[in-house]
Amino acid sequence: MQDVKTMICDNLSVSSRGHLLFGGHDTVELIRQYGSPLYVMDEEKIRRNARIYVDSMKQYFGNGSHPLFASKAASFKQIYRIIGQEGMGTDVVSAGEIYTAKAAGFDMSLAYFHGNNKTDADIAYAMENGVGCIVADNAEELEAIERLAGERGIRQKILLRLTPGIDPHTYEAVATGKVDSKFGAAIETGAAEELTLLALSKSNLDLWGFHCHVGSQVFDSEVYLAASEIMLSFVAKMQKDHGLVTRELNLGGGYGVRYTEADPVINIAENIALVAAELKKTAARLGIALPCILMEPGRSIVADAGLTLYTVGSVKEIKGYKNYVSVDGGMPDNPRYALYGSAYTVEIANKMDESKEFVCSVVGRCCECGDILQENVKLTSTVTRGDILAVLTTGAYNYSMASNYNRIPRLPIIMVTKDSSYVAVKRETFEDLIKNEI
Ligand SMILES: *Cc1c(COP(=O)(O)O)cnc(C)c1O
Repeated sequence: MQDVKTMICDNLSVSSRGHLLFGGHDTVELIRQYGSPLYVMDEEKIRRNARIYVDSMKQYFGNGSHPLFASKAASFKQIYRIIGQEGMGTDVVSAGEIYTAKAAGFDMSLAYFHGNNKTDADIAYAMENGVGCIVADNAEELEAIERLAGERGIRQKILLRLTPGIDPHTYEAVATGKVDSKFGAAIETGAAEELTLLALSKSNLDLWGFHCHVGSQVFDSEVYLAASEIMLSFVAKMQKDHGLVTRELNLGGGYGVRYTEADPVINIAENIALVAAELKKTAARLGIALPCILMEPGRSIVADAGLTLYTVGSVKEIKGYKNYVSVDGGMPDNPRYALYGSAYTVEIANKMDESKEFVCSVVGRCCECGDILQENVKLTSTVTRGDILAVLTTGAYNYSMASNYNRIPRLPIIMVTKDSSYVAVKRETFEDLIKNEI
């Protein structure tokens, strides 16, 4: 029997029958009830993840500092309701995400609209739907926001997206690495100051502050500290040289999650406490008041609150070469291994008590050699057609990245709660696949 403690997330355990439990629910039963394949999400876990950010940002940074859920990680109506109830704002990156949040009844004044190429139609749509803040990326966009706000007789709250020049995976500050990003304006080159002056010259723009996003899957607060040191120095300079008092500083995406046992366990509340203490010192040294701090966690809210369940169809042993286990889903529901070789933990959910000696690649059902969910995983050697295969930590960037490649309907999202489960997103039908076709 697998030791519960070695599982990668605290909402996973194993039943006395050797079945994988997720949020206390037997995953084999979930497949029986809702069909295969399935995304399953744990509502309590989403809420716990959200509360860690909401509570610790308020406690350590003070009132007005709060997290925004980066909804590109998982955008569907019920997620906006859940994170709204937990006191999070949200990031949206398209008119489609704005539409979805609004349809869920989300308070759009707490929405921040991102993107490096917002069209005039996107900006107008955001304004008409009461999006609280636009995170402006470039000069052309500032001109468009100024004009569209003027036409509507409003003064639009904005932040400016800047690049502090931090490479999150080497932690090298002011290496030019990230200055060449397609997003935002670089501090190092002077572009950030120019963009600030342009914003300040516009009567329909209400410049609240600045945003940066140093990267994702970050486990070390060093990255936030390095980025915020540069951002706060810029804030101080803008105050001294141009009289701009920054009200909000947005530090971007959240901490990393455990896809496999190799990923570290981090205490997010402790990290936020540490970052807050350092930022307060930096602000004092620079002689400025610390602005309200925003963070934009996506994956650390939903990734480990989700898993995907599939049914095994075939086990192919190519003697002397390679073994394949094929499942009834694949790159249409999880393109992340095909896209960037992302690591995941794979389990046979109905045989958790068996030892794992069979090395194989877990592949999908698409007519595509690259349709791989994970390579070189170890499963029980009794794996066979009909077994339930679970890919863990798929709550972020799976449903939101899903496609209909090979005309495969998208999976439903089943939400589990303490003592029940419900359909949050229905399984697509064949009719859905052709509904826009003449
Ligand atoms: C992707 C992204 C996030 C979320 O990153 P996570 O790793 O999911 O926390 C936040 N902010 C911006 C601007 C992003 O592009």
